[in-house]
Amino acid sequence: MSSECLFCRIVAGELPAAQVYSDAAVVAIRDISPQAPTHILLLARKHIPSVRDIAKADHGVMTEICSAATEVAKQEGIADAGYRLVINVGRDGGQTVDHLHVHLLGGRPMAWPPG
Ligand code: 5GP
Ligand code: ZN
Repeated sequence: MSSECLFCRIVAGELPAAQVYSDAAVVAIRDISPQAPTHILLLARKHIPSVRDIAKADHGVMTEICSAATEVAKQEGIADAGYRLVINVGRDGGQTVDHLHVHLLGGRPMAWPPG
């Protein structure tokens, strides 16, 4: 855990968040600035700055996050309608918090191409 990291502090319970799911590897919270009727952030419990920093030892974390996303989509009632999973990577990818997370967006049709 990094005491400087916003999402580490949320995972540790030091900062409040609207948590919707939690397991041994993942904590899911509602995004503070939702871009769709359902906008959930799936946070790795472990501090990994970005998906591009995943090392061999961390491969399983993406499987854990995708499994958690499936569960959360069911909970939110959007599993059948469909939804979008987004990973922003680095500056041009639009990443603003350097702690591995996946956005789960749904509750409306998603446009393509993305902005
Ligand atoms: P990124 O741009 O790094 O892919 O996504 C970061 C996301 O975290 C943004 O969608 C932003 O709205 C969300 N966010 C930033 N600060 C907070 C916070 O304190 N609490 C919650 N729940 N979400 C946050
Ligand atoms: Zn962190």
